[in-house]
This record gives sequence, C-alpha cells and structure tokens, in this order.
Amino acid sequence: ARKRIIAGNWKMNMTPSEAVKLVEELKPLVVNDDVDVVYCVPAIDIVPVVEAVKGTNVQVGAENFYIEDKGAYTGEISAPMLVDAGVKYVIIGHSERREYFKEDDAFLNKKVKKAIASGLTPILCCGETLEQREMGVTMDWIRLQIKSDLAGVAADDVKNLVIAYEPIWAIGTGKTATSDQAEEVCKGIRELIAEVYDTDTAEAVRIQYGGSMNAGNAKELLAKPNIDGGLIGGASLKAEFGQVVNA
Ligand code: 13P
Repeated sequence: ARKRIIAGNWKMNMTPSEAVKLVEELKPLVVNDDVDVVYCVPAIDIVPVVEAVKGTNVQVGAENFYIEDKGAYTGEISAPMLVDAGVKYVIIGHSERREYFKEDDAFLNKKVKKAIASGLTPILCCGETLEQREMGVTMDWIRLQIKSDLAGVAADDVKNLVIAYEPIWAIGTGKTATSDQAEEVCKGIRELIAEVYDTDTAEAVRIQYGGSMNAGNAKELLAKPNIDGGLIGGASLKAEFGQVVNA
C-alpha cells in the first residue's frame, strides 16, 4: 500500500523567524507515523526549518531550484545546495511557476531529471485552467503535461515520485474540486503511468490532490482510492494543517 503524503506549500510566506514559530506551533499537531509530512518552504527558511524539525517526523522540501550544480547563475540555488542543507523533496511545475516565471515542460523535464539525479524527490505538479475544464480537455492536457515532464525518466525513478494534481481554478480560491472530480483525474494520471511504464510503477507512484484543501474537505478527498495525499497552500500556514495530516 502507498504511504499517505501530506505536504505544505508555504509559497512566499513566512520570514525565517515566523517559520520557526510555525514549526513549533505545529509540532504536537502533526505527529503521525502513518503519514509522510513535508514542509515545502521558501529558500531562506530552509536552514532554520531543517534545524527546527530535528527529532520529529517532518521532512523539509524546497519550492524551487535551478538545474545547474553551480556557477555564474546569480540569485539561483542548486540541487546539491538543497541536499546539503537537509532537503528531501522539491516542488516542480507548480502552476504559479509555470505562469509567472514562464517555466515550460521542456525546462520542467530537465528539473525533474536533475532533482532525481541529485537525490531529491520531485513533487511534480499538473493541472488545468477553468477554461480547459469547461472545454472538456482536462485529461488530454494533464496527460500532455505529465508525458512531457517525465520524458526519458526511468520507471524505478517514477516509482519514488510524487505527482500533485492541482486544478488551477481551485488554487487559493476556496473552490475545491469535488472528491469525484479529483479522483477522476488522479485515476487518469495513474492509468497514464501504467500505459507509459507498467502497473507496478503506476501502483507505486503517489498522487496528491491540491487546491483549497483544508480540515473540512481533506477526509473525503483522502478517502478516494487514487488520492494518496495532499499539497496544501493556505491551510498549511496554521494549526489547521494538523487536522489535514490526521484526516
Ligand atoms: P491552496 O491550498 O492555498 O489553494 O494552494 C494550493 C496549492 O497551490 C498548493 O501547492
């Protein structure tokens, strides 16, 4: 059986001192050995947060990195730097990076490969716009994203991967996908992995839902057979996150 994985995506929130306070506040609320708990935090918060979660079940993820190991790339952070700092996961292909920072699938494919080669577990995001959903092309679009982002990635590496289905219209809007809508796409993603790879790989890969997930809707979403966890934005910044972990 796949282990549930609940990850917070803090986005551009929390100064280093606020970050440490939040970790301390959440500490007693996120204890659960049956769930992988991850905080994906801003780069500047990584070092203090890794220190603050020591001795707990929480692991730390990054929200971004650049595909070269080192060199003249002013302002960027490399995968080896993340690994050395104690980071285990990295979000790749979030819709906010696709939209605001123009990251396309060819670049995201390089990021996936670099993360894996460096020992980081990608949390690979995909998702459709409201317009695409209304046009009925959701699954075609998701298939295209996943196929391009995983091109040339080996089955054994896909087994360890986390894929997050995040409908763009549900992110930060308070409008969650229904559990049936979320399950339909997560199931479709698993079927695609079975098609491109094999059933073992499809059964191993963990698929999260993300988009206005909170204490009120987590239980129903997580009860679905193809939803193995959540990627949580707003609700990861407060005590409520503990209820999502334990939903
Ligand atoms: P919200 O939970 O704030 O809708 O954000 C979801 C998200 O984008 C997580 O990556």
